[in-house]
Amino acid sequence: MRLSRYFLPVLKETPAEAQIVSHRFMLRAGMIKQASAGIYSWLPLGFKVLRKIENIVHEEQLRAGHLPMLMPTLQSADLWRESGRYDDYGQEMLRMKDRHDRDMLFTPTAEELITDIFRGHVSSYRDLPLTMYQIQWKFRDEIRPRFGVMRGREFLMKDGYNFDLTKEDALHAYNRHLVSYLRTYERMGLQAIPMRADSGPIGGDDTHEFLVLAETGESEVFYDSEITELKFGDRDIDYTSKEQCHAVLEEFTSRYARTDETHDEALFNQVPEARRRVARGIEVGQIFYFGTKYSEAMGATVQGPDGKAVPVHMGSHGIGVSRLVGAIIEASHDERGIIWPEGVTPFHVGIVNLKTGDAEADAACETLYAALTAKGLEPLYDDTDERAGGKFATMDLIGLPWRITVGPRGLKNGVVELTCRRTGESEEMSPEAAIDRVAQIFAPHMVRGL
Ligand code: ATP
Ligand code: MG
Repeated sequence: MRLSRYFLPVLKETPAEAQIVSHRFMLRAGMIKQASAGIYSWLPLGFKVLRKIENIVHEEQLRAGHLPMLMPTLQSADLWRESGRYDDYGQEMLRMKDRHDRDMLFTPTAEELITDIFRGHVSSYRDLPLTMYQIQWKFRDEIRPRFGVMRGREFLMKDGYNFDLTKEDALHAYNRHLVSYLRTYERMGLQAIPMRADSGPIGGDDTHEFLVLAETGESEVFYDSEITELKFGDRDIDYTSKEQCHAVLEEFTSRYARTDETHDEALFNQVPEARRRVARGIEVGQIFYFGTKYSEAMGATVQGPDGKAVPVHMGSHGIGVSRLVGAIIEASHDERGIIWPEGVTPFHVGIVNLKTGDAEADAACETLYAALTAKGLEPLYDDTDERAGGKFATMDLIGLPWRITVGPRGLKNGVVELTCRRTGESEEMSPEAAIDRVAQIFAPHMVRGL
């Protein structure tokens, strides 16, 4: 992309309404624009990041064997009356009437609708196990939307639902989700710690939240510092193996890690004092096993091997896709701007032309741009006639992890400069070497477009 052709409405001033760093940088980098309280338009740069996050989520759900689908945002109240949640949900649910005076609502989550789909089509245990998921907009009329996309009213969520014959199978689905989530967050450059949590209005026995440690997080968390040393790494997990998935759950949840809702001071005190941590965290996902709560209320049964009808065991599993954009910035920035992890950066590399209009510099930038593009990379080429300082400030603000700087002086010696946004270190090299280096860096991070 050429910056002269792009829509990047960067702000010089810090917007007064933004209280936390991610919100400030998202507004200043022209990623989002508030449409009304807690509701945002995603401008091209922000949308690109959102899409990369979505694509990683899809890739990891597909790898786990889960089926993508899409349900509507507007739902009939009738199903929610069946489960009893139409009344339970309270004011967070946005309710409306259609022209025939029928009660409708904007989906805050989708257990009812997926259960209705299931009961309409599945009647035998032979069709199980089944896990389907979607990435769809949700609406919760939060009393205090704040922090930009972190606590919006409209937000993008991945929500997945498993249907299993037995509790044991459903717990395997739970563990499979835990493994796939660990891998998902790691690909986004995040450490998200699974913590024992409270089930809230969804209900259920087993639930873990995934928290990214950050001072601006809304949840208070208590954990054994050993947990932050665990790395998921590039493990070859067979998602169909109950043992392998369970082993990962054991490894990542056996140390003390809880949110304030489930915190137990006596248990926490059993952790050696030097390892006890009290901090704040951002919830970026949650997994639930809730047994037969919805299947019993809504008659989602299958015929078991003995011919008897039994309610299916279910769970639901969510990732805060739009919240993740903010969470990643909270975890990765400096005073000048965002520092995107390689896996989610909107463009892979920025090209800064120090002297737009200089024939040689222009030609070298064009060649770099074409060569990077030909390798499947996405460069953002600043071809504007802004002064060099301004170009650097914009690149730093929008957070591209790598930058190639091209100027007449370097070109006389046959070199350009490759700069790492995170460390600030620069290295001179030939344009060809810079291209190869960038291609090599991103080889493990190429997110497939859908
Ligand atoms: P919270 O406790 O933050 O209100 P929740 O536990 O009610 O969230 P879930 O039902 O678990 O939310 O939804 C799955 C994920 O969706 C959450 O882990 C979170 O990342 C994201 N999420 C929930 N509410 C919002 C919101 N208002 N804005 C942005 N993301 C949200
Ligand atoms: Mg939650």
